[in-house]
Amino acid sequence: MISVIEMLGIKREYRMEASTPKAGAPSNADTVVVHALRGVDFFAEAGEFVSVMGPSGSGKSTLMNILGCLDKPSAGTYFLDGIETSSSDSDTFAYIRNRKIGFVFQSFNLLARTTALENVELPLFYRRANKDEKKLGARARKERAMQALEEVGLANRMDHFPSQLSGGQQQRVAIARAIVNDPAFILADEPTGNLDTGMSLEIMGLFQQLNKRGKTIIMVTHELELAAYSRRIIALRDGKLVSDINVEDQRDALKDLAVWKKKHARLAEKTHEL
Ligand code: ADP
Repeated sequence: MISVIEMLGIKREYRMEASTPKAGAPSNADTVVVHALRGVDFFAEAGEFVSVMGPSGSGKSTLMNILGCLDKPSAGTYFLDGIETSSSDSDTFAYIRNRKIGFVFQSFNLLARTTALENVELPLFYRRANKDEKKLGARARKERAMQALEEVGLANRMDHFPSQLSGGQQQRVAIARAIVNDPAFILADEPTGNLDTGMSLEIMGLFQQLNKRGKTIIMVTHELELAAYSRRIIALRDGKLVSDINVEDQRDALKDLAVWKKKHARLAEKTHEL
């Protein structure tokens, strides 16, 4: 197996100046240090589907920012797909972020006046090429974006604008955008936070399908019900990794969706009868 993520001894401290330093006090007397991560070791291999859990304030966002190369740790090393990120220069850092990670956010973050297809093409347009890589032409970009939309089951919605799509479909577009560059892993931050139960199950079903096809997924969630669809759960508390378990009996989201739909239909019939 190939290691996609190798984090060793990751620490992140935030230093904050207290509002009004006292007269005569040494200049650093009023600096407050918050230890958001206190030495995290985390390894993930290609093909894993990992949930990151933990109560509010435990360090999930901080870890997510470091995983996503949006922030660097105060100490420790982070190899992403074999590249040492912590000491890389800003160009390399941006290249890794752009090419190695596919982001999926709670709020979809699609461009409103742009079609599904154009939204998915965007990362290819801004794609950072290695010195020895050719830039992608317009046709290649379009083909790749179409393929990604097909993979998420939206082949028939390519020309729709976000406002013409349901929340679940918008998140599918965002997932197509995340995979279009064939990243080392998908990093999803509360991906169903804005969706109802049915749509959440659809998205979990899609993640499970993509994972079965070999995609590596790291998902931050505070809901154990959602984490049960992944294959491994790590939990943070007070900036430390306190548990790391394999999910023995991974739930099947599409099966759960079918059951939910039946129940929903029965309930709808009944309320109609009233
Ligand atoms: P979570 O995502 O699990 O809620 P965070 O990573 O946001 O946790 O926060 C971890 C700790 O770091 C908290 O105590 C939080 O208050 C602190 N923290 C997060 N971001 C900052 C920041 N920019 N400046 C100072 N403290 C921060």
